[in-house]
Amino acid sequence: MNSAPRIKGWCPGALCPMMSGDGLVVRVRPPAGRLNQRQAAGIATLATRCGNGILDLSNRANVQLRGVAEDRYDTLIDGLRDFGLIDPNATVESRRNILVTPFRTAGDESDTIAAQLATALAALDAPDVSAKFGYAIDAGTEPVLKNAPADIRLERDTDGTLILCAADHAFGKPVTRHDAVQQMLDLARWSLDQPDPRVTRMSRMLSSGTLLPSGFTTPRRPATPVPQPGIHPAGVLVATAFGQIDAATLTALAALGPLRVTPWRMLLIEAATTMPTLPGLITDPADPLLRVVACIGAPGCAQGHTATRVLAGQLARHVPPGQTLHVSGCAKGCAMPRAADVTLTATPTGFDLILNGTADAVPNHTSMHAADLPVLLQKAN
Ligand code: SF4
Repeated sequence: MNSAPRIKGWCPGALCPMMSGDGLVVRVRPPAGRLNQRQAAGIATLATRCGNGILDLSNRANVQLRGVAEDRYDTLIDGLRDFGLIDPNATVESRRNILVTPFRTAGDESDTIAAQLATALAALDAPDVSAKFGYAIDAGTEPVLKNAPADIRLERDTDGTLILCAADHAFGKPVTRHDAVQQMLDLARWSLDQPDPRVTRMSRMLSSGTLLPSGFTTPRRPATPVPQPGIHPAGVLVATAFGQIDAATLTALAALGPLRVTPWRMLLIEAATTMPTLPGLITDPADPLLRVVACIGAPGCAQGHTATRVLAGQLARHVPPGQTLHVSGCAKGCAMPRAADVTLTATPTGFDLILNGTADAVPNHTSMHAADLPVLLQKAN
């Protein structure tokens, strides 16, 4: 039996939905990662009316409506369009793959730069990069998106200068506020000019030996730890187990303020100063559920070999603070493309256990049974 996942060459969007085990998955890309209160409440209503009332927060700061019935899809898109959440066409939607730091402030111009980049990517002559190719505007006081997926990034040097960065490359190139967007587009076009057309992502290009153009000489600052739920200068950060949120909780959050969608599968309630006490929210940074990551698994995903989230919830208390356990329904590893301390990949014969690797890495143990996993986890840690 072939357990290899089917890798699709595109990223689902609202205009390019994906059929899953529980109906259509419709992925909404909130402009600049922000939902005003009307939009957040509107998505929640539409999730109930057209889907199964369950939403996922993705590691690209998108919001996915799940379980959308095919005969409700057009109604959903019309509703999302009324809230200003639908692009003119699927090509523009696919290109507008922009992360913006949730900790931006009015003075750092992140929103302005993100809006200008979105406009540029909607132009007919925008770089025709792959659908997974993404941009990050990480121009707050500290770089907080270094562990989030992006091919081209904008960060700040310690003196506040903007620097253009390519994937995980250690050095950036100084740019100005005025040429930052053009420089991002030029770098994207440069990537398209590289000889191997099969390599479409910046990190693979650089790791295969391709050298960046001149000017990438400014050392980048180290990554900051993933922020935790709590009160932050920009607002209040709240999490949900596995980034899954139901429509009722989203409606309640929308009443508290505009929401910034983060790549950490948390929502930031803009300008809030007190922690909400809503059921279903994780507000304690010590909650073990924050140490586990799991995709939807079976039966929600047709490629899943097992129900991942129930198991991940049961194993969470066995994961020490500071460690991450990734439970993946198959080797595709959608929920966590990078390495976790421990990964359990479901297969037709049980679970593969992988230490410090991704879901498709060579396993340290194979065909493990769920009942044995708590003990194995304790040994692994
Ligand atoms: S990793 Fe999970 S969500 Fe992704 S294809 Fe496999 S089972 Fe489905």
